[in-house]
Amino acid sequence: MNQPERLADLHLHLYGSIGPADWLEHVKDREIDWESYESAFLEAYGVAPPIRDVLDRYRAGDSGAAEEFRRLFVFGDDDAGNFDRFQAKCNLLIEGSRIGEDQARGSYGQVSIDEVTNVAHAVIRSQQAQGIAYAEQRMQVPDGAWILLDALLNAYAEYEDSTFQPRMVVSLPRDDPWRYWEVARALALGPSGHLVTGIDFSYHEEGYPPKDKKPFFDEVLRFNEQHPERALAILYHVGESFGDKSLESAVRWVHESAELGAHRLGHAIALGVDPEAYGPHTRTECVDERIDQLTYDLAHAEGLLRHGLEVDRESAMEELGRLRSHPPDEKLMVEYDHSRLADVRRRQDYAMEQVRALGAVVEVCPTSNRRIGGISEPAHHPVHRFLDHGVAFVVASDDPGIFGTTLRDELRWVVDAAGLEPDAAHELADRAWRYRSEVLTGREEA
Ligand SMILES: [Zn+2]
Repeated sequence: MNQPERLADLHLHLYGSIGPADWLEHVKDREIDWESYESAFLEAYGVAPPIRDVLDRYRAGDSGAAEEFRRLFVFGDDDAGNFDRFQAKCNLLIEGSRIGEDQARGSYGQVSIDEVTNVAHAVIRSQQAQGIAYAEQRMQVPDGAWILLDALLNAYAEYEDSTFQPRMVVSLPRDDPWRYWEVARALALGPSGHLVTGIDFSYHEEGYPPKDKKPFFDEVLRFNEQHPERALAILYHVGESFGDKSLESAVRWVHESAELGAHRLGHAIALGVDPEAYGPHTRTECVDERIDQLTYDLAHAEGLLRHGLEVDRESAMEELGRLRSHPPDEKLMVEYDHSRLADVRRRQDYAMEQVRALGAVVEVCPTSNRRIGGISEPAHHPVHRFLDHGVAFVVASDDPGIFGTTLRDELRWVVDAAGLEPDAAHELADRAWRYRSEVLTGREEA
């Protein structure tokens, strides 16, 4: 493949971007209590990680130790399909981080500031080496550790005169984003606010329906109207993990997030995955999700019909009436046969049309989808349907350090899996440039 000239990575988590060699340097000489890392790893993998031995040997100059550390660090294809295993590997980052020491003390000082600053520079060095010219880094700090966001901005400001453009996206907790929002908006309005370009929601989505975020999204959109030069993109991980609900609801969550005003949707696997990937099976969902789904079906009956799905209004109304007397958290069984899976496909067709019309952009992260999202078969990956339906999407790398991947690897995967012309990588890279947060919020002309 010809190499794209100007790469932008729009879906990145800062700590997920640090590579094993840099992290090994960070932990090698410190006294770290590895106990909880070791026990979670043992639980997930059935074998304890030889971390102490690897570090001892690395310090003693054993040339194979760095490679062994890399294997402990990277969450590879062999590890895929199990979130506990992913968490177990991430713990090497969490337990090795000094932010936890400050968190235990209850105040954040130089130790954490130095770490965050060093991580930011190390990640940027590796991005520059790969030819990346622009990167939106998401970062969620512990509650109250706002000083670390300042440190990050200071680090990014050092690249002001370089050809590399780092940007900060503040990740907010799904359960209560408001305190974090006060901090994010103050940063955006501050002297380095041009480097803060968005807010993000990540981590577990189960239990956090997008509809509950309406007041929050409205507040951000109001802020954007008042401060167009410092407008913040709403980036929202959704439809990545949906084991707790029907496939219909998972599709609806993605559509609703776009309707609420999200600028970019993280992963949105549910929107375009081939439903046959799951085959005939049974799932469960709560009564209140089912009520929301029936209400959606009635409101969107016309559009769904255009895509070949007829909503039986009478039976939907009758089911709604019946469910209203049930406890909202009661679990309902949902059975899927081939015919219902085909209906899910029609719902996706409609939702993709709507997402496209709403102007939301999907962030596609192939390696992450394969290893965390459980999409092991390339033919099932949502990107094929996104291409067929003209859904705006951008290819990104999510946690390139943890996955041992690069943005070029991710672009190449899409080109190969979708059978695109080799030059398509240039076009995909150009898209990223067009879908940067600054452009989507109107801070910058397209
Ligand atoms: Zn992510």
